[in-house]
Amino acid sequence: MSIRSKATAAVASAAAMTLFAGTALAASPGAPGAGDPYFPGYGNGGYDVSHYDIRLNYNPDGDQLSGTTTILAKATEDLTQFNLDFLLKVKSVRVNNVPASFVSDDGELILTPRGGVRKGQNLTIVVTYADTPSAVKDRNGFTAWTKTTDGALAIGEPEIASWWFPSNDHPTDKATFDVNVAVPNGVEAISNGTFVGQTRQINGWTRWNWRSTKPQATYLTFLTIGQFEIRQSTTPSGQPSVNAYSERLGDNADAAKASIERTPEVIEFLTENVGPYPFEAQGGVVTPDLGYALENQTRPTYDTAFFRRGANTYVVAHELGHQWFGDSVSVHHWRDIWLNEGFASYMEFLWSEHIGEGTAQENADFTYDLYPADSPFWDVLPGDPGASKVFDGAVYDRGALAVHALRVAVGDEKFFEILRTWTAEKKYSDATIEEFIALAERVSGQQLDELFQTWLFTKGKPAQAPGRDSAAAAAKTLSVTAEPKSRAKIQLTHELLDAHK
Ligand SMILES: [Zn+2]
Repeated sequence: MSIRSKATAAVASAAAMTLFAGTALAASPGAPGAGDPYFPGYGNGGYDVSHYDIRLNYNPDGDQLSGTTTILAKATEDLTQFNLDFLLKVKSVRVNNVPASFVSDDGELILTPRGGVRKGQNLTIVVTYADTPSAVKDRNGFTAWTKTTDGALAIGEPEIASWWFPSNDHPTDKATFDVNVAVPNGVEAISNGTFVGQTRQINGWTRWNWRSTKPQATYLTFLTIGQFEIRQSTTPSGQPSVNAYSERLGDNADAAKASIERTPEVIEFLTENVGPYPFEAQGGVVTPDLGYALENQTRPTYDTAFFRRGANTYVVAHELGHQWFGDSVSVHHWRDIWLNEGFASYMEFLWSEHIGEGTAQENADFTYDLYPADSPFWDVLPGDPGASKVFDGAVYDRGALAVHALRVAVGDEKFFEILRTWTAEKKYSDATIEEFIALAERVSGQQLDELFQTWLFTKGKPAQAPGRDSAAAAAKTLSVTAEPKSRAKIQLTHELLDAHK
């Protein structure tokens, strides 16, 4: 540094001191939650994240995770203190290159930046940390990180980020991501988006580099480490595709591949029906130890059990349906979960119809008849299930019936126009059920309050299956509804998805 620039720096620094000294910030901590009624502690207030750079080392031997996450954000209010959501042991924090004091308290990492930050100010937050994630529990005694025999799974909804990177952990604050993870040579580390390549380290380790350039929610950002067969290709639409199959799939391996390898075909089908695919890459991961499937952005992860009775493209249609319904258009509050699960489940009905294994109407009829009127199934409201029932079977099955009720009320042309308008207008954003109802009324020109009141917000079994004509309903008292060919696979899919709680 020259003497001249040193002097300039000193003057600038003195000016900055004067500015802050002149107008000291009154105590103004950012909120410890994003205001979600079901999960008040999720997310935080006072800033908006634009990018996460997650740079980690992971040793499967002993489940040792360490590294640095750099967060780019902007303050949305004056802040003397603000929170990140994080459970692991923190070594240091810097805010705009100055060490910040921090306290870890029950999943909240509370930061006090020196001098505070002003509304509108850019923030660069650097957090270094090291811990054994599988040994870390949240305030409910729960561990979302799964240690496996050959690696680990960082996958979970509504929460997983706190076990591997500090964040503003709510779908209302999406960001782009770079995920770079070094593991011992011979181990695979898979995440979202585009695979940017491997970097050999000097110490017998390899760094895996992944990049997500479209807005992505924290819970849809995943990491899977272990022994995997990786298949890279380019889809007919020109997108990079990465599929990864655990080497522990056993007898299910081929059935899994016969399902996941059809990902571009399913995306093509969904694109024709619900609008352009919103992301820059495709793929899927199949592994034991998960127990369910999750729609991680660009790359859903499926438990091997979905394929125990052979190929299952219904779970693929479900998770890929989420790329539009859930990933690109996310819940505003977790109460809006029907916007995810009702629509992803309805994509299974559409797929069943498409491949000739039962029409959507037949699937709706069968689902409606499956639950007797006195079943507790009808007591759960898909439009407001409660925090403990966000993934209840009713959110999926009755949720899909609600979507079908809309379709038969407005007709196919308006129905698909509603879906395409919704995925276009709310792309890369978040939304409420009320906003969906308003849009459906606008596009269809119909008053739909009663329909949604009946299917989403009223306890008890509605009087009739949506779309079933009265003659068929009368005949129904004489015989059992025929089971669509797709039903067994759809049922297996939902049994496993419901197990995700
Ligand atoms: Zn789902």
